[in-house]
Amino acid sequence: MAYTYDENGNYKRTVRCSHCWEKGHNKSSCPDRKKQLQASIKTLKERLATDEYEYDYGRENDQRRLVNVTEQLSKMMNKGKGRKCSYCDETGHNRRSCPKRKQDIGIYSAETRTYREKFLEKMREIGLGVGAIVRETIRVQKDDGFEDVAALAYVESVDWLSVDHRDKWSDNDYYYKSNCNLGLRLLGDYVNRWGEKMSKVGAVAPASVANTDNLHVSDEARERGMRGYPGVEIVSGVDSIHPPKEFFDDEAIAKWITSEIVDAK
Ligand SMILES: [Zn+2]
Ligand SMILES: [Zn+2]
Repeated sequence: MAYTYDENGNYKRTVRCSHCWEKGHNKSSCPDRKKQLQASIKTLKERLATDEYEYDYGRENDQRRLVNVTEQLSKMMNKGKGRKCSYCDETGHNRRSCPKRKQDIGIYSAETRTYREKFLEKMREIGLGVGAIVRETIRVQKDDGFEDVAALAYVESVDWLSVDHRDKWSDNDYYYKSNCNLGLRLLGDYVNRWGEKMSKVGAVAPASVANTDNLHVSDEARERGMRGYPGVEIVSGVDSIHPPKEFFDDEAIAKWITSEIVDAK
């Protein structure tokens, strides 16, 4: 094994050929070895066609070698031919060149782009961005136990770049919720149940930002969402909301879709 960079600039292990010591292929697909085998076959055939042999064993030896190198070459030529693509299970191409995979990256990227456009509108409608003041329920120490209190907090960060089309609210979803993560700084002094001072907490945006198609939400789904994933309540929104540039960058979106969905492990 050796190391190299892949198309995304990540470190990647690669093979090293035990025949020519080049990186990126192994002995069974070595172009150098293929040429040598072809040359050997040609030489052996030419010699076998003549009467140059002084002894029979010389001829027999060449015949055996011819059989051997011909087998080696045909193994090399057939290698990978019957192998299935690990993405679509069809033969004749691999994952990297898979047309279905390429198509899926395109479809999901377009869906994510559309979702992100509407999602940003929803966030702007309620003024949820860095600088907004929100109310979030947190668990704090009380006597020997704890209690839940509604705390005021300042929105320090919005995890824009992990927003994708899968977050969108659809009719079949069990919980009415959003997956958009927020980083909050608490305004006020709070101590958690283990006696530690609390200053930062994570929270999620209200479910309404994920309902980008303005679908009807059943009372049950809304109730489940409020119980499990309540989302922050906006106290004072901000007028200016600007996600990072990559939020609408096609290449960055495709890269996210590829690593998180299409090639997700
Ligand atoms: Zn090689
Ligand atoms: Zn394929």
